[in-house]
Amino acid sequence: MNDIEIAQDAKMKKIIPLVKAKIGIPEEMMEPYGHYKTKVSLDYLDSLADKEDGNLILVTAISPTPAGEGKTTTSVGLTDGLNKIGMKAIVCLREPSLGPCFGMKGGAAGGGYAQVVPMEDINLHFTGDFHAIGLAHNLLSALIDNHIHHGNVLGIDQRKVSWRRVLDMNDRALREITAGLGGPNNGFPRSDGFDIVVASEVMAIFCLATSITELKHRLGNIVVAHTRENVAVTARELEAHGAMTVLLKDAFKPNIVQTLEGNLAFIHGGPFANIAHGCNTVVATKAALKLADYVVTEAGFGADLGAEKFVNIKCRKSGLRPKASVVVATLKALKFHGGVAVADLSKENIQALEVGLANLEQHVRNVRESFGISTIVAINKFSFDTEAEIALVKKKLAHLDVQVVEADHWARGGEGAVELAEAVVKIIEDKPTDLHFIYENEASLVEKMESVAMKIYGAEAVTFDTKVGKKIAKLQEDYGHYPVCVAKNPYSFSADPSKLGAPKGHIVKVREVRLAAGAEFIVFICGDVMTMPGLPKIPAANRIDLDESGKVVGLF
Ligand code: ADP
Ligand code: MG
Repeated sequence: MNDIEIAQDAKMKKIIPLVKAKIGIPEEMMEPYGHYKTKVSLDYLDSLADKEDGNLILVTAISPTPAGEGKTTTSVGLTDGLNKIGMKAIVCLREPSLGPCFGMKGGAAGGGYAQVVPMEDINLHFTGDFHAIGLAHNLLSALIDNHIHHGNVLGIDQRKVSWRRVLDMNDRALREITAGLGGPNNGFPRSDGFDIVVASEVMAIFCLATSITELKHRLGNIVVAHTRENVAVTARELEAHGAMTVLLKDAFKPNIVQTLEGNLAFIHGGPFANIAHGCNTVVATKAALKLADYVVTEAGFGADLGAEKFVNIKCRKSGLRPKASVVVATLKALKFHGGVAVADLSKENIQALEVGLANLEQHVRNVRESFGISTIVAINKFSFDTEAEIALVKKKLAHLDVQVVEADHWARGGEGAVELAEAVVKIIEDKPTDLHFIYENEASLVEKMESVAMKIYGAEAVTFDTKVGKKIAKLQEDYGHYPVCVAKNPYSFSADPSKLGAPKGHIVKVREVRLAAGAEFIVFICGDVMTMPGLPKIPAANRIDLDESGKVVGLF
Protein backbone atom coordinates (compact mmCIF):
# COMPACT_ATOMS: atom_id res chain seq x y z
CA MET A 1 0.00 0.00 0.00
CA ASN A 2 1.21 3.55 -0.60
CA ASP A 3 1.06 6.38 1.95
CA ILE A 4 -2.43 7.62 1.14
CA GLU A 5 -3.87 4.09 1.10
CA ILE A 6 -2.36 3.34 4.51
CA ALA A 7 -3.69 6.63 5.84
CA GLN A 8 -7.18 6.06 4.46
CA ASP A 9 -7.21 2.54 5.83
CA ALA A 10 -6.59 3.83 9.37
CA LYS A 11 -9.39 3.69 11.92
CA MET A 12 -9.19 7.22 13.25
CA LYS A 13 -10.49 8.05 16.69
CA LYS A 14 -12.76 11.02 17.31
CA ILE A 15 -10.35 13.79 18.24
CA ILE A 16 -12.20 15.42 21.15
CA PRO A 17 -12.51 12.31 23.34
CA LEU A 18 -9.00 11.25 22.31
CA VAL A 19 -7.39 14.53 23.40
CA LYS A 20 -9.45 14.55 26.59
CA ALA A 21 -8.35 11.04 27.47
CA LYS A 22 -4.69 11.51 26.55
CA ILE A 23 -3.86 14.96 27.90
CA GLY A 24 -6.96 16.10 29.72
CA ILE A 25 -7.91 19.20 27.78
CA PRO A 26 -11.54 19.93 28.71
CA GLU A 27 -13.98 19.71 25.83
CA GLU A 28 -15.05 23.34 26.08
CA MET A 29 -11.42 24.40 25.57
CA MET A 30 -11.29 22.77 22.15
CA GLU A 31 -12.69 23.97 18.85
CA PRO A 32 -13.17 20.98 16.57
CA TYR A 33 -12.93 21.28 12.80
CA GLY A 34 -14.93 18.21 11.82
CA HIS A 35 -14.39 14.98 13.77
CA TYR A 36 -10.65 14.52 13.46
CA LYS A 37 -9.03 17.93 13.81
CA THR A 38 -9.28 20.40 16.63
CA LYS A 39 -7.87 23.73 17.66
CA VAL A 40 -7.09 24.46 21.31
CA SER A 41 -8.08 27.64 23.08
CA LEU A 42 -5.23 30.05 23.84
CA ASP A 43 -6.77 30.85 27.22
CA TYR A 44 -6.46 27.22 28.15
CA LEU A 45 -2.83 27.13 27.07
CA ASP A 46 -2.16 30.29 29.12
CA SER A 47 -3.62 28.55 32.15
CA LEU A 48 -0.84 25.93 31.93
CA ALA A 49 1.95 28.48 32.42
CA ASP A 50 3.02 27.17 35.83
CA LYS A 51 3.23 23.54 34.79
CA GLU A 52 6.65 22.01 34.35
CA ASP A 53 7.88 21.49 30.79
CA GLY A 54 8.48 18.09 29.27
CA ASN A 55 11.62 17.15 27.32
CA LEU A 56 12.03 18.64 23.87
CA ILE A 57 13.63 16.44 21.21
CA LEU A 58 14.77 17.91 17.91
CA VAL A 59 14.65 15.70 14.83
CA THR A 60 17.05 16.91 12.19
CA ALA A 61 18.96 15.21 9.36
CA ILE A 62 21.94 14.92 7.11
CA SER A 63 21.96 16.95 3.88
CA PRO A 64 19.01 15.42 2.04
CA THR A 65 18.53 14.08 -1.45
CA PRO A 66 15.70 15.84 -3.27
CA ALA A 67 13.29 13.09 -2.05
CA GLY A 68 13.67 13.92 1.66
CA GLU A 69 15.26 11.53 4.15
CA GLY A 70 12.36 11.02 6.52
CA LYS A 71 12.49 13.63 9.28
CA THR A 72 8.72 13.93 9.46
CA THR A 73 8.33 10.17 9.20
CA THR A 74 10.91 9.66 11.95
CA SER A 75 9.36 12.35 14.17
CA VAL A 76 6.02 10.56 13.96
CA GLY A 77 7.59 7.11 14.37
CA LEU A 78 9.65 8.19 17.36
CA THR A 79 6.57 9.67 19.02
CA ASP A 80 4.66 6.43 18.50
CA GLY A 81 7.71 4.53 19.77
CA LEU A 82 7.91 6.66 22.92
CA ASN A 83 4.23 6.06 23.62
CA LYS A 84 4.77 2.36 22.97
CA ILE A 85 7.35 2.21 25.79
CA GLY A 86 4.92 3.95 28.13
CA MET A 87 5.98 7.57 27.80
CA LYS A 88 3.57 10.43 27.26
CA ALA A 89 4.81 11.88 23.98
CA ILE A 90 3.45 14.37 21.47
CA VAL A 91 4.85 15.32 18.07
CA CYS A 92 4.96 18.94 16.79
CA LEU A 93 5.15 19.38 13.04
CA ARG A 94 4.79 22.00 10.37
CA GLU A 95 1.66 22.29 8.29
CA PRO A 96 2.49 21.23 4.74
CA SER A 97 2.49 23.81 1.98
CA LEU A 98 -0.31 23.21 -0.48
CA GLY A 99 1.60 24.19 -3.61
CA PRO A 100 4.16 21.37 -3.60
CA CYS A 101 1.40 18.75 -3.17
CA PHE A 102 0.47 19.37 -6.79
CA GLY A 103 4.05 19.57 -7.96
CA MET A 104 6.73 17.07 -7.24
CA LYS A 105 7.09 16.36 -3.59
CA GLY A 106 3.76 14.86 -2.63
CA GLY A 107 2.48 15.02 0.92
CA ALA A 108 4.34 16.00 4.05
CA ALA A 109 2.48 14.14 6.78
CA GLY A 110 5.06 11.39 7.28
CA GLY A 111 5.07 8.10 5.40
CA GLY A 112 4.35 4.40 5.54
CA TYR A 113 3.13 3.39 9.01
CA ALA A 114 4.42 6.57 10.60
CA GLN A 115 1.95 9.19 9.47
CA VAL A 116 -0.39 11.78 10.86
CA VAL A 117 -4.02 11.65 9.80
CA PRO A 118 -6.37 12.71 8.24
CA MET A 119 -3.53 13.05 5.71
CA GLU A 120 -5.62 14.49 2.85
CA ASP A 121 -6.89 17.27 5.10
CA ILE A 122 -3.48 17.99 6.58
CA ASN A 123 -1.94 18.22 3.13
CA LEU A 124 -4.73 20.27 1.58
CA HIS A 125 -6.76 23.01 3.30
CA PHE A 126 -6.45 21.60 6.83
CA THR A 127 -8.00 24.13 9.26
CA GLY A 128 -7.54 27.06 6.91
CA ASP A 129 -4.51 28.54 8.68
CA PHE A 130 -2.52 29.07 5.51
CA HIS A 131 -5.46 30.78 3.84
CA ALA A 132 -5.66 33.15 6.79
CA ILE A 133 -1.93 33.81 6.64
CA GLY A 134 -2.08 34.41 2.89
CA LEU A 135 -4.98 36.82 3.34
CA ALA A 136 -3.32 38.72 6.15
CA HIS A 137 -0.27 39.10 3.92
CA ASN A 138 -2.32 40.22 0.90
CA LEU A 139 -4.36 42.64 2.97
CA LEU A 140 -1.12 44.45 3.68
CA SER A 141 -0.26 44.37 -0.05
CA ALA A 142 -3.66 45.87 -0.88
CA LEU A 143 -3.26 48.57 1.76
CA ILE A 144 0.10 49.62 0.30
CA ASP A 145 -1.27 50.16 -3.20
CA ASN A 146 -4.39 51.77 -1.78
CA HIS A 147 -2.27 54.18 0.23
CA ILE A 148 -0.31 55.21 -2.87
CA HIS A 149 -3.53 55.52 -4.90
CA HIS A 150 -5.13 57.86 -2.37
CA GLY A 151 -2.34 60.40 -2.28
CA ASN A 152 0.60 58.59 -0.68
CA VAL A 153 0.90 60.70 2.47
CA LEU A 154 3.75 58.51 3.70
CA GLY A 155 5.70 59.21 0.53
CA ILE A 156 6.27 55.57 -0.44
CA ASP A 157 8.55 55.29 -3.44
CA GLN A 158 6.68 52.86 -5.70
CA ARG A 159 9.99 51.54 -6.95
CA LYS A 160 10.97 50.60 -3.43
CA VAL A 161 8.04 48.49 -2.32
CA SER A 162 9.58 45.29 -0.99
CA TRP A 163 6.32 43.68 0.18
CA ARG A 164 5.11 41.31 -2.55
CA ARG A 165 1.92 39.26 -2.74
CA VAL A 166 1.46 35.57 -1.89
CA LEU A 167 -0.49 32.52 -3.05
CA ASP A 168 -0.43 28.94 -1.75
CA MET A 169 0.21 27.44 -5.16
CA ASN A 170 3.25 26.76 -7.33
CA ASP A 171 2.80 29.22 -10.17
CA ARG A 172 5.90 30.45 -11.95
CA ALA A 173 3.97 32.86 -14.18
CA LEU A 174 3.32 35.08 -11.16
CA ARG A 175 6.95 35.41 -10.01
CA GLU A 176 7.36 38.80 -11.64
CA ILE A 177 4.34 40.83 -12.69
CA THR A 178 3.28 44.40 -13.29
CA ALA A 179 0.45 45.55 -11.06
CA GLY A 180 -1.78 48.60 -11.36
CA LEU A 181 -2.18 48.61 -15.15
CA GLY A 182 -5.34 49.98 -16.76
CA GLY A 183 -5.38 53.68 -16.05
CA PRO A 184 -5.93 56.08 -13.16
CA ASN A 185 -8.78 54.10 -11.60
CA ASN A 186 -6.48 51.15 -11.04
CA GLY A 187 -3.69 52.75 -9.09
CA PHE A 188 -0.13 53.36 -10.17
CA PRO A 189 1.67 50.76 -12.24
CA ARG A 190 4.61 49.14 -10.52
CA SER A 191 6.51 45.92 -10.75
CA ASP A 192 5.37 43.33 -8.24
CA GLY A 193 5.33 39.56 -7.86
CA PHE A 194 4.06 36.60 -5.90
CA ASP A 195 5.76 34.30 -3.42
CA ILE A 196 4.31 31.10 -2.03
CA VAL A 197 2.53 31.54 1.35
CA VAL A 198 5.18 29.62 3.28
CA ALA A 199 7.71 32.24 2.17
CA SER A 200 5.66 35.10 3.62
CA GLU A 201 7.15 37.02 6.52
CA VAL A 202 3.70 36.80 8.09
CA MET A 203 4.24 33.03 8.24
CA ALA A 204 7.59 33.45 10.01
CA ILE A 205 6.08 35.93 12.46
CA PHE A 206 3.12 33.63 13.08
CA CYS A 207 5.55 30.85 13.97
CA LEU A 208 7.78 32.92 16.27
CA ALA A 209 5.22 34.99 18.17
CA THR A 210 4.40 33.72 21.66
CA SER A 211 1.06 35.53 22.06
CA ILE A 212 -1.55 37.45 20.07
CA THR A 213 -0.13 40.68 21.52
CA GLU A 214 3.33 39.82 20.29
CA LEU A 215 1.92 38.70 16.95
CA LYS A 216 0.32 42.11 16.44
CA HIS A 217 3.42 43.95 17.58
CA ARG A 218 5.64 42.04 15.16
CA LEU A 219 3.16 42.48 12.28
CA GLY A 220 3.29 46.21 12.91
CA ASN A 221 7.09 46.13 12.62
CA ILE A 222 7.10 44.70 9.09
CA VAL A 223 8.96 47.04 6.75
CA VAL A 224 7.00 47.15 3.49
CA ALA A 225 8.71 49.87 1.49
CA HIS A 226 11.03 52.85 1.60
CA THR A 227 10.51 56.49 0.75
CA ARG A 228 12.57 58.41 -1.78
CA GLU A 229 14.76 59.49 1.13
CA ASN A 230 15.23 55.83 2.05
CA VAL A 231 13.19 55.98 5.21
CA ALA A 232 11.53 52.65 6.08
CA VAL A 233 7.72 52.47 5.97
CA THR A 234 6.10 49.92 8.27
CA ALA A 235 2.80 48.06 8.42
CA ARG A 236 2.10 50.02 11.59
CA GLU A 237 2.26 53.33 9.70
CA LEU A 238 -0.24 51.92 7.23
CA GLU A 239 -2.42 50.90 10.20
CA ALA A 240 -2.54 47.38 8.82
CA HIS A 241 -1.44 45.26 11.76
CA GLY A 242 -4.72 45.32 13.69
CA ALA A 243 -6.78 44.00 10.80
CA MET A 244 -4.07 41.48 9.94
CA THR A 245 -4.23 40.19 13.52
CA VAL A 246 -8.01 39.85 13.24
CA LEU A 247 -7.54 37.64 10.17
CA LEU A 248 -5.09 35.49 12.12
CA LYS A 249 -6.83 35.17 15.47
CA ASP A 250 -8.29 31.71 14.88
CA ALA A 251 -5.37 30.41 12.87
CA PHE A 252 -3.11 31.24 15.83
CA LYS A 253 -4.74 28.55 17.97
CA PRO A 254 -2.71 25.33 17.58
CA ASN A 255 -4.21 22.35 15.74
CA ILE A 256 -4.21 18.82 17.11
CA VAL A 257 -4.59 15.66 15.04
CA GLN A 258 -3.52 12.06 15.60
CA THR A 259 -0.89 9.63 14.36
CA LEU A 260 -1.91 6.32 12.79
CA GLU A 261 -1.46 4.82 16.26
CA GLY A 262 -3.75 7.33 17.95
CA ASN A 263 -1.06 9.48 19.56
CA LEU A 264 -1.34 13.24 19.44
CA ALA A 265 0.26 15.62 16.99
CA PHE A 266 0.32 19.40 17.03
CA ILE A 267 0.54 20.62 13.45
CA HIS A 268 0.81 24.36 13.31
CA GLY A 269 2.51 26.87 11.02
CA GLY A 270 4.97 26.05 8.29
CA PRO A 271 7.62 28.57 7.24
CA PHE A 272 10.18 27.78 4.52
CA ALA A 273 13.45 26.46 5.82
CA ASN A 274 15.54 28.64 3.51
CA ILE A 275 14.41 32.27 3.64
CA ALA A 276 12.70 31.59 6.98
CA HIS A 277 13.47 29.36 9.93
CA GLY A 278 11.59 26.15 8.99
CA CYS A 279 9.92 25.14 12.28
CA ASN A 280 6.33 24.87 13.50
CA THR A 281 4.93 27.55 15.80
CA VAL A 282 6.51 28.39 19.14
CA VAL A 283 2.96 28.39 20.53
CA ALA A 284 2.42 24.74 19.58
CA THR A 285 5.83 23.60 20.84
CA LYS A 286 5.33 25.39 24.16
CA ALA A 287 1.83 23.99 24.52
CA ALA A 288 3.00 20.44 23.83
CA LEU A 289 5.76 20.79 26.44
CA LYS A 290 3.14 21.59 29.06
CA LEU A 291 0.99 18.66 28.04
CA ALA A 292 3.48 15.82 27.53
CA ASP A 293 6.67 14.45 29.02
CA TYR A 294 8.38 14.13 25.63
CA VAL A 295 7.84 16.44 22.69
CA VAL A 296 9.34 15.53 19.35
CA THR A 297 9.73 18.29 16.77
CA GLU A 298 11.23 18.65 13.32
CA ALA A 299 13.23 21.43 11.69
CA GLY A 300 13.34 21.64 7.89
CA PHE A 301 16.15 20.40 5.61
CA GLY A 302 19.49 19.18 7.00
CA ALA A 303 20.95 20.21 10.33
CA ASP A 304 23.06 22.95 8.67
CA LEU A 305 19.84 24.82 7.91
CA GLY A 306 17.12 23.34 10.14
CA ALA A 307 18.92 22.73 13.41
CA GLU A 308 21.03 25.87 13.06
CA LYS A 309 17.93 28.05 12.76
CA PHE A 310 16.02 26.07 15.34
CA VAL A 311 18.77 26.90 17.83
CA ASN A 312 19.89 30.35 16.78
CA ILE A 313 16.51 31.78 15.83
CA LYS A 314 13.70 29.79 17.44
CA CYS A 315 15.31 28.77 20.75
CA ARG A 316 17.26 31.99 21.27
CA LYS A 317 14.20 34.21 21.42
CA SER A 318 11.54 31.85 22.74
CA GLY A 319 13.54 30.30 25.56
CA LEU A 320 12.88 26.79 24.24
CA ARG A 321 15.70 24.38 25.08
CA PRO A 322 15.99 20.94 23.46
CA LYS A 323 17.19 18.08 25.63
CA ALA A 324 18.31 15.84 22.78
CA SER A 325 18.54 15.61 19.04
CA VAL A 326 18.04 12.79 16.57
CA VAL A 327 20.00 13.15 13.34
CA VAL A 328 18.20 11.15 10.67
CA ALA A 329 20.31 9.51 8.01
CA THR A 330 19.42 7.15 5.21
CA LEU A 331 21.85 4.86 3.48
CA LYS A 332 20.62 6.16 0.15
CA ALA A 333 21.50 9.74 1.08
CA LEU A 334 24.91 8.60 2.34
CA LYS A 335 25.53 6.91 -0.99
CA PHE A 336 24.32 10.05 -2.75
CA HIS A 337 26.97 12.03 -0.85
CA GLY A 338 29.44 9.40 -1.96
CA GLY A 339 28.71 10.29 -5.56
CA VAL A 340 26.08 7.71 -6.57
CA ALA A 341 23.46 8.84 -9.11
CA VAL A 342 19.87 9.10 -7.85
CA ALA A 343 18.79 6.20 -10.08
CA ASP A 344 21.31 3.83 -8.44
CA LEU A 345 20.75 4.65 -4.78
CA SER A 346 18.87 1.44 -4.06
CA LYS A 347 21.90 -0.72 -4.98
CA GLU A 348 24.46 -1.74 -2.40
CA ASN A 349 27.62 0.34 -2.70
CA ILE A 350 29.93 0.08 0.27
CA GLN A 351 32.62 2.32 -1.15
CA ALA A 352 30.32 5.21 -1.92
CA LEU A 353 28.70 4.83 1.47
CA GLU A 354 32.02 5.17 3.20
CA VAL A 355 32.82 8.35 1.29
CA GLY A 356 29.36 9.79 1.96
CA LEU A 357 29.64 9.29 5.71
CA ALA A 358 31.66 12.50 5.87
CA ASN A 359 28.40 14.40 5.50
CA LEU A 360 26.75 12.67 8.44
CA GLU A 361 29.85 13.07 10.61
CA GLN A 362 29.91 16.81 10.10
CA HIS A 363 26.23 17.15 10.97
CA VAL A 364 26.72 15.09 14.13
CA ARG A 365 29.69 17.24 15.17
CA ASN A 366 27.74 20.41 14.49
CA VAL A 367 24.71 19.41 16.48
CA ARG A 368 26.63 17.87 19.35
CA GLU A 369 29.64 20.14 19.62
CA SER A 370 28.65 23.45 18.04
CA PHE A 371 25.16 23.50 19.54
CA GLY A 372 25.90 21.27 22.52
CA ILE A 373 22.83 19.05 22.04
CA SER A 374 23.07 15.37 23.03
CA THR A 375 22.73 13.44 19.80
CA ILE A 376 21.65 10.07 18.47
CA VAL A 377 21.88 8.98 14.84
CA ALA A 378 18.78 7.23 13.50
CA ILE A 379 19.14 5.19 10.33
CA ASN A 380 15.73 5.47 8.71
CA LYS A 381 15.56 2.04 7.11
CA PHE A 382 14.59 1.50 3.50
CA SER A 383 13.67 -1.95 2.19
CA PHE A 384 16.77 -2.10 -0.03
CA ASP A 385 19.30 -1.33 2.73
CA THR A 386 21.75 -4.20 3.26
CA GLU A 387 23.23 -5.62 6.47
CA ALA A 388 26.74 -4.95 5.20
CA GLU A 389 25.93 -1.29 4.65
CA ILE A 390 24.43 -0.83 8.09
CA ALA A 391 27.37 -2.60 9.72
CA LEU A 392 29.75 -0.26 7.93
CA VAL A 393 27.95 2.85 9.16
CA LYS A 394 28.11 1.63 12.75
CA LYS A 395 31.76 0.69 12.47
CA LYS A 396 32.82 3.93 10.82
CA LEU A 397 30.97 6.11 13.30
CA ALA A 398 32.37 4.31 16.33
CA HIS A 399 35.15 6.89 16.67
CA LEU A 400 32.56 9.62 17.20
CA ASP A 401 31.11 7.82 20.19
CA VAL A 402 27.59 8.48 19.00
CA GLN A 403 24.87 5.87 19.28
CA VAL A 404 23.59 4.70 15.89
CA VAL A 405 20.12 3.16 15.97
CA GLU A 406 18.25 1.51 13.13
CA ALA A 407 14.66 2.64 12.95
CA ASP A 408 12.00 0.81 11.01
CA HIS A 409 8.89 2.85 11.83
CA TRP A 410 8.09 3.44 8.16
CA ALA A 411 7.41 -0.27 7.76
CA ARG A 412 6.37 -1.15 11.33
CA GLY A 413 5.02 1.98 13.03
CA GLY A 414 5.93 2.72 16.65
CA GLU A 415 7.11 -0.86 17.17
CA GLY A 416 9.89 -0.17 14.67
CA ALA A 417 11.08 2.84 16.67
CA VAL A 418 11.16 1.30 20.16
CA GLU A 419 14.94 1.03 20.19
CA LEU A 420 15.23 4.65 19.07
CA ALA A 421 12.73 5.76 21.73
CA GLU A 422 14.67 3.93 24.44
CA ALA A 423 17.92 5.46 23.28
CA VAL A 424 16.41 8.95 23.36
CA VAL A 425 15.02 8.52 26.86
CA LYS A 426 18.37 7.22 28.04
CA ILE A 427 20.49 9.97 26.51
CA ILE A 428 18.23 12.61 28.08
CA GLU A 429 18.86 11.00 31.46
CA ASP A 430 22.56 10.33 31.00
CA LYS A 431 23.85 13.25 28.97
CA PRO A 432 22.37 16.63 29.79
CA THR A 433 22.36 19.06 26.90
CA ASP A 434 24.22 22.32 27.30
CA LEU A 435 22.76 24.37 24.48
CA HIS A 436 25.00 27.02 22.99
CA PHE A 437 24.39 29.60 20.36
CA ILE A 438 27.14 29.86 17.81
CA TYR A 439 27.10 33.66 18.04
CA GLU A 440 25.95 36.27 20.51
CA ASN A 441 23.35 38.96 19.80
CA GLU A 442 26.09 41.59 20.05
CA ALA A 443 28.18 40.16 17.20
CA SER A 444 27.84 42.09 13.94
CA LEU A 445 25.66 40.71 11.15
CA VAL A 446 28.77 39.85 9.13
CA GLU A 447 30.31 38.08 12.11
CA LYS A 448 27.10 36.11 12.59
CA MET A 449 27.07 35.06 8.95
CA GLU A 450 30.74 34.08 9.25
CA SER A 451 30.02 32.01 12.35
CA VAL A 452 27.37 30.02 10.52
CA ALA A 453 29.48 29.60 7.38
CA MET A 454 32.72 28.66 9.11
CA LYS A 455 31.52 26.73 12.16
CA ILE A 456 28.60 24.92 10.54
CA TYR A 457 29.24 24.81 6.79
CA GLY A 458 33.01 24.30 6.99
CA ALA A 459 33.56 27.33 4.76
CA GLU A 460 36.75 29.32 4.60
CA ALA A 461 35.23 32.75 4.07
CA VAL A 462 32.11 34.75 3.37
CA THR A 463 32.15 37.22 0.49
CA PHE A 464 29.77 39.78 -0.96
CA ASP A 465 30.04 42.59 -3.48
CA THR A 466 30.10 46.25 -2.46
CA LYS A 467 26.40 46.77 -3.13
CA VAL A 468 25.45 43.96 -0.75
CA GLY A 469 28.12 45.16 1.70
CA LYS A 470 26.53 48.61 1.79
CA LYS A 471 23.14 47.14 2.45
CA ILE A 472 24.50 45.01 5.28
CA ALA A 473 26.17 48.07 6.80
CA LYS A 474 22.89 49.98 6.65
CA LEU A 475 20.97 47.12 8.27
CA GLN A 476 23.65 46.84 10.93
CA GLU A 477 22.73 50.33 12.21
CA ASP A 478 19.18 49.49 13.23
CA TYR A 479 18.95 45.73 13.18
CA GLY A 480 22.44 44.52 14.03
CA HIS A 481 21.22 42.66 17.10
CA TYR A 482 19.02 40.29 15.08
CA PRO A 483 20.09 36.76 14.19
CA VAL A 484 20.84 35.88 10.59
CA CYS A 485 18.62 33.50 8.63
CA VAL A 486 20.70 31.93 5.88
CA ALA A 487 19.03 30.88 2.66
CA LYS A 488 21.12 28.43 0.67
CA ASN A 489 20.62 25.20 -1.18
CA PRO A 490 19.92 22.34 1.23
CA TYR A 491 21.78 19.60 -0.64
CA SER A 492 25.31 20.64 0.25
CA PHE A 493 27.06 22.26 3.18
CA SER A 494 28.31 24.76 0.61
CA ALA A 495 26.27 27.15 -1.49
CA ASP A 496 26.94 24.91 -4.49
CA PRO A 497 24.55 21.91 -4.58
CA SER A 498 27.02 19.82 -6.58
CA LYS A 499 29.57 19.83 -3.73
CA LEU A 500 28.40 16.77 -1.84
CA GLY A 501 29.81 15.08 1.25
CA ALA A 502 31.61 17.51 3.55
CA PRO A 503 33.35 20.12 1.40
CA LYS A 504 35.98 22.21 3.15
CA GLY A 505 37.50 25.57 2.42
CA HIS A 506 34.65 26.74 0.22
CA ILE A 507 33.58 30.34 -0.11
CA VAL A 508 30.03 31.37 0.76
CA LYS A 509 28.96 34.26 -1.43
CA VAL A 510 26.10 36.38 -0.13
CA ARG A 511 24.09 37.50 -3.13
CA GLU A 512 21.45 39.51 -1.34
CA VAL A 513 20.26 40.47 2.14
CA ARG A 514 16.66 41.07 3.16
CA LEU A 515 15.24 42.61 6.28
CA ALA A 516 12.50 40.72 8.11
CA ALA A 517 11.85 43.33 10.79
CA GLY A 518 8.70 41.63 12.05
CA ALA A 519 10.22 38.15 12.14
CA GLU A 520 13.29 39.77 13.70
CA PHE A 521 15.96 38.24 11.54
CA ILE A 522 18.06 39.28 8.57
CA VAL A 523 17.92 36.92 5.61
CA PHE A 524 21.28 36.29 3.97
CA ILE A 525 20.67 34.79 0.55
CA CYS A 526 23.55 32.64 -0.69
CA GLY A 527 22.84 31.03 -4.04
CA ASP A 528 19.58 30.65 -5.90
CA VAL A 529 16.56 30.52 -3.67
CA MET A 530 13.11 30.03 -5.06
CA THR A 531 10.32 31.80 -3.21
CA MET A 532 7.70 30.87 -5.81
CA PRO A 533 8.23 27.31 -7.03
CA GLY A 534 7.06 26.14 -10.44
CA LEU A 535 5.33 22.90 -11.39
CA PRO A 536 7.23 20.11 -13.16
CA LYS A 537 6.39 18.94 -16.68
CA ILE A 538 4.21 16.17 -15.28
CA PRO A 539 2.86 17.60 -12.03
CA ALA A 540 1.39 15.44 -9.28
CA ALA A 541 -1.86 17.34 -9.92
CA ASN A 542 -2.30 15.21 -13.05
CA ARG A 543 -2.77 12.07 -10.99
CA ILE A 544 -4.67 13.55 -8.02
CA ASP A 545 -8.37 12.84 -8.32
CA LEU A 546 -11.57 12.12 -6.46
CA ASP A 547 -12.77 8.57 -7.12
CA GLU A 548 -16.40 7.52 -7.44
CA SER A 549 -16.72 6.87 -3.71
CA GLY A 550 -15.55 10.40 -2.91
CA LYS A 551 -12.05 9.35 -1.87
CA VAL A 552 -8.98 11.43 -2.72
CA VAL A 553 -6.52 9.41 -4.77
CA GLY A 554 -3.01 10.14 -6.03
CA LEU A 555 -1.90 12.37 -3.16
CA PHE A 556 1.30 11.01 -1.63
P1 ADP B 1 11.48 14.94 5.37
O1 ADP B 1 10.56 15.33 6.48
O2 ADP B 1 12.87 14.73 5.85
O3 ADP B 1 11.41 15.83 4.19
P2 ADP B 1 9.60 12.80 4.99
O4 ADP B 1 9.46 12.17 6.32
O5 ADP B 1 8.52 13.71 4.55
O6 ADP B 1 11.01 13.52 4.85
O7 ADP B 1 9.80 11.62 3.93
C1 ADP B 1 9.97 11.91 2.55
C2 ADP B 1 9.34 10.80 1.74
O8 ADP B 1 10.07 9.59 1.92
C3 ADP B 1 7.91 10.50 2.12
O9 ADP B 1 7.16 10.31 0.94
C4 ADP B 1 7.99 9.20 2.89
O10 ADP B 1 6.83 8.39 2.72
C5 ADP B 1 9.21 8.53 2.29
N1 ADP B 1 9.92 7.71 3.28
C6 ADP B 1 10.38 8.11 4.48
N2 ADP B 1 10.98 7.10 5.12
C7 ADP B 1 10.90 6.02 4.31
C8 ADP B 1 11.33 4.65 4.41
N3 ADP B 1 11.99 4.24 5.49
N4 ADP B 1 11.09 3.82 3.38
C9 ADP B 1 10.42 4.26 2.29
N5 ADP B 1 9.98 5.55 2.12
C10 ADP B 1 10.21 6.41 3.13
MG1 MG C 1 9.39 17.02 6.76
